[in-house]
Amino acid sequence: MSPNASYPRLLEPLQLGTKRLRNRVLMGSMHTGLEDSRDLQPLAAYFRERARGGVGLIVTGGFAPNIAGWAKPFAGMLASRSAARRHGVVTRAVHEEGGHIALQILHTGRYAYHPLAVAPTRLKSPISPFTPFELSARGVERQIRAFIRCALLAQEAGYDGVEIMGSEGYLINQFISAATNQRTDDWGGDYSHRMRLPVEIVQRTREAVGPDFILVYRLSMIDLVPGGSRWDEVVTLGKAVAAAGASIINTGIGWHEARIPTIATSVPRAAFAWVTRKLKQEFEAAGISTPLVASNRINTPEVAEQILVEGSADMVSMARPLLADAEFVNKAAQGRAQDINTCIACNQACLDHVFRNERASCLVNPRACRETEIVMRPAAQRKRVAVVGAGPAGITAATWAAERGHDVHLFESSAEIGGQLNMARRVPGKEEFDEMLRYLQRRLDTTGVQVHLNQKATAEDLLPFDEIIVATGVLPRDPRIPGQDHPKVLSYIDVLRNGVTVGPRVAVVGAGGIGFDVAEFLVSAGHSTTLDAQAWRREWGVTDPAEAPGGLAPQGPQPDAPERDVVLLQRRAGKPGAGLGKTTGWIHRTALKMKRVQMIGGVNYERIADQGLLISHGPRREDLQWIECDHVVLCTGQVPLRALADELSAQGRQVHVIGGAREAGELDAKRAIDEAARLACTL
Ligand code: NAP
Ligand code: SF4
Repeated sequence: MSPNASYPRLLEPLQLGTKRLRNRVLMGSMHTGLEDSRDLQPLAAYFRERARGGVGLIVTGGFAPNIAGWAKPFAGMLASRSAARRHGVVTRAVHEEGGHIALQILHTGRYAYHPLAVAPTRLKSPISPFTPFELSARGVERQIRAFIRCALLAQEAGYDGVEIMGSEGYLINQFISAATNQRTDDWGGDYSHRMRLPVEIVQRTREAVGPDFILVYRLSMIDLVPGGSRWDEVVTLGKAVAAAGASIINTGIGWHEARIPTIATSVPRAAFAWVTRKLKQEFEAAGISTPLVASNRINTPEVAEQILVEGSADMVSMARPLLADAEFVNKAAQGRAQDINTCIACNQACLDHVFRNERASCLVNPRACRETEIVMRPAAQRKRVAVVGAGPAGITAATWAAERGHDVHLFESSAEIGGQLNMARRVPGKEEFDEMLRYLQRRLDTTGVQVHLNQKATAEDLLPFDEIIVATGVLPRDPRIPGQDHPKVLSYIDVLRNGVTVGPRVAVVGAGGIGFDVAEFLVSAGHSTTLDAQAWRREWGVTDPAEAPGGLAPQGPQPDAPERDVVLLQRRAGKPGAGLGKTTGWIHRTALKMKRVQMIGGVNYERIADQGLLISHGPRREDLQWIECDHVVLCTGQVPLRALADELSAQGRQVHVIGGAREAGELDAKRAIDEAARLACTL
């Protein structure tokens, strides 16, 4: 079998002008925070690993062409020759590994999080507190020149090209849309004027950089906002930027202010490839050969190959999957797809970090963006290592330690590995957790860890080991609600793991991550729209942009009726699920609202009885209310399960405690895996 037999289209080279990309994998632009530092060595190390891993074309996170275009104060910018010199370390690293790299030019316009923001019209965006200045005609010209200067500096820095960011609702998109561009001069008015900015930028940049430089144009193909572009406008612009000199057109899906999820884990895989296919058909009919790139929720080589085979695109863009596994392409090429650490699209360590102004990483790969910090070296001395608990923390510690050369035994009291992941994967919209379990099992199989299932390790069992790692996880917290021993009371474990039958009216106590998961599980009728792209589009109100501008269905979201009446409660006042992910919390809240889940905050739990759950409101607790229900499900957080660790410590033995067993508050798989990996590197 030839090495490329499984993914022949994906691994086929692509000629862009005079440059030949080694395959059809584009690492999509993603801000990581590494761009914002003066020291670009960590960025170079991050891209070097992805280039070594076989990526065809890397696109950097966005760099502003000038101060007005900054995403936030002092964000990464390429506007001077001294900055260009600093980028040399990045381009050299990628070229030394046989890769190609383009710099993304990102002008944020009114999305800028600083007071110097500019836009076509003085209209504040819903996602920035700053009202932009309206650009004068000379101001528009200055922005165009800034784009061109940035492209020339990128060329000087050794980049193979640039990506001109024309989508996601940033400056260029703001010019294109009549909703954000209310100008009456040559840059506003009818569509031919509103699209002038991107066409001039591409045309004049091409003239400046010459024919050999790759120009990627990121075209917003479906805006997903009111007042978004019509399909004929998208096609007109696509053809115009191709004619103006774009080497390849990348797909943009949805403005940042859109209220439709576009990349979250509950979005079906390749959910928007059909939009790129529509444009491809238009290009083919017009005899335009400019290649197109599909993007969004493409996370396995199978899905990527399928997109290319069915003719939806000429190349695929993946960003997060390459954070999750720098070796993605090589593994696919070597017929080792089962070894790929699959991105589960959780956003927890990548985009959630970036939106909190922290450096990105990856939940399933803590080395992402920390390539110079977390380094796995062979162990100086082979030790016998015992790991207790086969959840994400325990498996990561075990496999990393084994990979370093230790003799590792993993003890698990239950019959299966995975711990809490086995519950998460049952929640509709969280099917990607199956991939995480698949990968963890594969790692156990390939690193030589000796796994002992159905074995509750005792302190005595652990006597022969040099190192003991306790990753025994958590127990549900006892909320001590009067009447909680009533038969109608269940725990989330009963619902998500034990398959207990739940009645039609349910009160869920606790609105953290697990309370939301349980509520989503209960309202869905065993049908996950994540696995049914058409149903998902109907649920969220996405339609063909040829039928409605921006692709927003005129009838709005059409969710299926909920399977149960669910009330979700928390003691804290304020918005439920405030602790959920920064970029995904709104999706969970919207999904539950669409299923008519009633969310009530600021309550006290008085008692549980035949009638249901009695709550009170306010500090004086006199305002009583019965939540009549068949079941009450407790999702009131968790406490560390540390009995074994305490016993070992009491015997004076040294023990490493990680994950939920160490600290249950704010526990999530991200911290558990990160702690485990770092510990394993020190043994
Ligand atoms: P959690 O997020 O800490 O939520 C616990 C909930 O229980 C809160 O709503 C809390 O709200 C309530 N609570 C706490 N003590 C209580 C008490 N004594 N009596 C009654 N209610 C009480 O914990 P979790 O839901 O168990 O989730 C565990 C971890 O897994 C979290 O870190 C979570 O982020 C993670 N996780 C994440 C996701 C995700 O989608 N990203 C999904 C599942 C789990 P009040 O105190 O206001 O009542
Ligand atoms: Fe993918 Fe989650 Fe890692 Fe982000 S943190 S790259 S979404 S697995």
